[in-house]
Amino acid sequence: MSVKFFCLQACVVVVCFAACAKAPPAARMEFALGTICGVNLYEGGSDKLYGRIFARIREIDRTMSARPEGRAFERGEGISPSGDSEVAGINRNAGIAPVEVSADLIEVLERALYYAELSGGAFDPTIGPLVALWGIGSETSAGRIPDEAEIAGALALVDWRDLVIDRRRGTVFLRRQGMALDLGAIAKGYAADEAARLAREGGARRGIFDLGGNILALGGRDGKRGEETPWRIGVQDPLDERGAYIGVLPVRDKSVVTSGIYERYFEAGGRRYHHILSSGDGYPVDNGLLSVTITAGRSIDADGLSTAVFALGFEKGKALIEALPDTEAIFVFNDRTVRITAGLEGIFNLTNNSYTMLGAMPI
Ligand code: ADP
Ligand code: MG
Repeated sequence: MSVKFFCLQACVVVVCFAACAKAPPAARMEFALGTICGVNLYEGGSDKLYGRIFARIREIDRTMSARPEGRAFERGEGISPSGDSEVAGINRNAGIAPVEVSADLIEVLERALYYAELSGGAFDPTIGPLVALWGIGSETSAGRIPDEAEIAGALALVDWRDLVIDRRRGTVFLRRQGMALDLGAIAKGYAADEAARLAREGGARRGIFDLGGNILALGGRDGKRGEETPWRIGVQDPLDERGAYIGVLPVRDKSVVTSGIYERYFEAGGRRYHHILSSGDGYPVDNGLLSVTITAGRSIDADGLSTAVFALGFEKGKALIEALPDTEAIFVFNDRTVRITAGLEGIFNLTNNSYTMLGAMPI
């Protein structure tokens, strides 16, 4: 069986049409959260402010990283600085004792549990044992498909209802030994929100935060006559090279996050095994979707929901999004069709004619 292994960085899932705006005073990129993080402040940026923002991103990375070896590997480092993250501490103490953690982690875990409940467990922050088993996107997988017994064993350890958060004591506990948190589906969103908060507090009014394709657009962009116009965010074509897009979404003060089969995956026996795993059967989710893009006010929500909706599939996912205020979705299917939620009609512009937009359909 030919095995090809991919470990692509989620660098620019969504392309920002920043070149159309006035040249930024400065921009900075760093490797954190297992990916390339770029911040571009178009107004009010300074070295000091960039420094504060990236220190905060690194702090969140140190707290929430679950796969130290993978992260270190991706960074090209021999050893990992994140082996003693708070998440790693909780995982080590699974079935043993509650662990005291930072307010940051409590907040992210509470939001993660909210999405676990909302998605009926399709989104599950205790997916760690399955992620570790498949190892997609880390050096440990080498393209190996686990056998059924291994999958059943890992799956038995995945259950968000066994994650206990004690807000008053500031502790977190996984009830059973072998359980493990993995916040890969939501931590970047939180980091983007925090980065934007610091930017705003530091006086920046306009900017693009791109944490591995997890986009947050602060304010609008500078128009020709000084008036603000929306940022134009390109939605990645899941079947083309990075930077190729299927259409454009105008946004202001919003986050745009995509989850797809093209981020981290390996191929074996002519099949693709990607990194969003089903908490139902333990295999990569296989439901005809290539990607789901969510737009929402907060990046933690767009991030959590992009994974939740991808895992739920189109029908349940669309129903979930339509029930949430100020939250919209773009679904791209493997037959090159695209569907959008009602709030994006007349707003999302499909520009790539190799895709077909399907109209609203009763579901
Ligand atoms: P990306 O990491 O490319 O931004 P996502 O936000 O969709 O993409 O997160 C995918 C990551 O979330 C996986 O790499 C894994 O760490 C974790 N994960 C995989 N399946 C699930 C799931 N069903 N629920 C919650 N987290 C998941
Ligand atoms: Mg996500």
